[in-house]
Amino acid sequence: MKCRCGKEAIVYLRYVKRPLCNDCFSNYYVSSVSKTIKRFGILKKDEKILAAVSGGKDSASMALVLKKLGYDFEMLYIDLGIPEYSKDCKKEVEKLSELIDVPLSVVELKNYGFTIADVKKRPCSACGTAKRYIMNSFARHKFQVVATGHTAEDIASFFLKNTASGASEWSDKLLPRTDPFDEKVVAKAKPLILMSEKENMIYSITNCLPFKNSECPYAPEQTWKEIVYDIERKKPGFTKYFVRGLISKTKGLGDVKYCLECGEVSSAELCSFCRLRKKFAKK
Ligand code: SF4
Ligand code: ZN
Repeated sequence: MKCRCGKEAIVYLRYVKRPLCNDCFSNYYVSSVSKTIKRFGILKKDEKILAAVSGGKDSASMALVLKKLGYDFEMLYIDLGIPEYSKDCKKEVEKLSELIDVPLSVVELKNYGFTIADVKKRPCSACGTAKRYIMNSFARHKFQVVATGHTAEDIASFFLKNTASGASEWSDKLLPRTDPFDEKVVAKAKPLILMSEKENMIYSITNCLPFKNSECPYAPEQTWKEIVYDIERKKPGFTKYFVRGLISKTKGLGDVKYCLECGEVSSAELCSFCRLRKKFAKK
């Protein structure tokens, strides 16, 4: 199979019906992310960005593409204290930082008195809370926006899961960028919101990016993601079109409250991170 430039293709992108070689794929990837960032105003060239990196392919791809597009950013890795896994991921982000020459900071959850290994029930929910809390408080004094490597599959499966469970007050998480509704909150951005996991994987491999290619030991069954993969297999392009549709229909947040314990923005008297600390921190 040949790319239209004449070189040997490394991938066939089903939804655009095109075989692409290594270079043409990289150009397509960078230009797709660039168009998405501009179209939805996800990032600005004059702001200082904190890119949250996990050690996986998605955030590694995000870091390289931001570098190629000339954005001003540094990286943050949160060590969640997951036995073996967190250490391995940290090694990968350290290699990434050296390779692309972008500063990396590391924050350890254990400094707050507990780790994700202490959370026996629903660790992913605690993990999400801890990551959001640390990213926001770390970024506040130096950065205008936190960028994360969320993909089109993340957004589509999140929407399906929450819609099916009847949950509400999460719709801002579907947006490509949420701007601060309070001075304590840093803007959040998802530059890869229209890229697929497969595209990130190919981009990481073809650019020899270091990443950990195995799942966290606490990763739950990805039922909703499996459903998204299934539909995508039967209808190539579904995930991107679906996410584009969601973005155009989604609205932002409502009222602001503050946590009585730490003063961060919260939807209840105590923020979810302080509730976690009360439960798990060793006295
Ligand atoms: Fe955290 Fe769950 Fe992801 Fe593991 S799988 S890193 S516990 S959110
Ligand atoms: Zn709090």
